[in-house]
Amino acid sequence: MSMPRSPTSCVRSASGVIIAKSPAELDIMREAGRITALALDAVASAVRPGVTTAELDAVAEDTIVRAGARPAFKGYHGFPATLCTSVNDQVVHGIPGKRVLREGEIVSVDCGAIVDGYYGDSARTFAVGTVSPEAQRLMDVTRRSLEAGISRCRPGMRLYDVSAAVQEVAEAAGFSVVREYVGHGIGRAMHEDPQVPNYGKAGTGPALKVGMVLAIEPMVNAGTADVRSLDDGWTVVTLDGAMSAHFEHTVAITEDGPRVLTVAGSDTP
Ligand code: MG
Ligand code: MG
Repeated sequence: MSMPRSPTSCVRSASGVIIAKSPAELDIMREAGRITALALDAVASAVRPGVTTAELDAVAEDTIVRAGARPAFKGYHGFPATLCTSVNDQVVHGIPGKRVLREGEIVSVDCGAIVDGYYGDSARTFAVGTVSPEAQRLMDVTRRSLEAGISRCRPGMRLYDVSAAVQEVAEAAGFSVVREYVGHGIGRAMHEDPQVPNYGKAGTGPALKVGMVLAIEPMVNAGTADVRSLDDGWTVVTLDGAMSAHFEHTVAITEDGPRVLTVAGSDTP
């Protein structure tokens, strides 16, 4: 789940301090991330023309609960579901429901799990059946922009090296990055400091240090960057109605570089 950009620091953090996690804490966060990834894998298998977003939500919740974790989003500031499901021009925070997915649509699925009080947070955009070449390109570029950001997650880099890497990939492809919502630090709260914008000046921002954990989440629009919120109080859509894609991983900074926590299976060094 992304957070609204705020002018100073995270509105829900009293300290403004970036909390480093111990190796033991990272192992718990790895489990939360693993279960989050399992849920997204299950959703990936369930996405097809004719499925409703509520059905995808049920698949994710079942996977998380069976794995012994709790859905992170359900009840978060009143959010009613396990997933955010955002279709086509919806950017983030769409609420699962009766909407039936149609051939050619894209659906951004954001998911989080809690294990022993620690959070995992991850998102992927899926094609529903066969999509247009432009929709596919938008998804591919957004995923590549996330990978570029992750590659900067090492000690010695600055936070906005991550931001700039994301922005560069998205804009080089002719797309735009959303400004009004950002990634975030994550740990015992879903949204910790720092904010992780998808735009910024390389070589600036807080120094990245071992033990920091960032949820990096490019929201990339095919048209302009501007967004607005719907009357449901959650769903964010593009102002121009063009499509948007969203990919996210929870990433720890280690001495050896980035450790992506939100993947299934065993760790690869
Ligand atoms: Mg998320
Ligand atoms: Mg997030």
